[in-house]
Amino acid sequence: MPLEPLLPLFHQLNREHFDGRLAPDDRPLVVLRWSDGRLTRTAGLYRRWGSSPGEMRSEILLSRPLLDPLPRTATLSTLCHEMIHAWVDRVLGVREAHGPHFRARMALINSRQPGFEVSLRHRFPVPLRPARWLARCPRCGLRSPYRRRREGLACRLCCERWHGGRWHADCLLVFEPLTP
Ligand SMILES: [Zn+2]
Ligand SMILES: [Zn+2]
Repeated sequence: MPLEPLLPLFHQLNREHFDGRLAPDDRPLVVLRWSDGRLTRTAGLYRRWGSSPGEMRSEILLSRPLLDPLPRTATLSTLCHEMIHAWVDRVLGVREAHGPHFRARMALINSRQPGFEVSLRHRFPVPLRPARWLARCPRCGLRSPYRRRREGLACRLCCERWHGGRWHADCLLVFEPLTP
């Protein structure tokens, strides 16, 4: 299924909840993009380059792999969350993450429409990708699944128990491939 274009959603939310301030003269202050398949740490993010007003560039990136399988309200609430970041940063000119300005606007938006809810965190399930490796601790025998093989990982429990919390080669995890 093709992804929903973000620009119309942006203009709609901008009109309804940001008094149009995120697109003066109908020109959005931010570039909107769907991510490729790799953004799975978060459903969305906002970022800005440049510090003087003339050279500021902002972007909102939404996670295709996380949001695509979810209902449209997840896209709306994630986009709206990132738009609040853009509004605090570019319209108010305040440097804060989820500070008082962010929270006040979020509460206002949530109180005046029932269609979706903006939250502080994007709590969406990450589609499971099967583990390909089992990491085994040679001291305590604990096994944990990993998607990728990692060098130099030591068992935290054993480092805490036997080495005062410091990394020690005795507790280096041994990676064994998992055959499906
Ligand atoms: Zn945020
Ligand atoms: Zn261990």
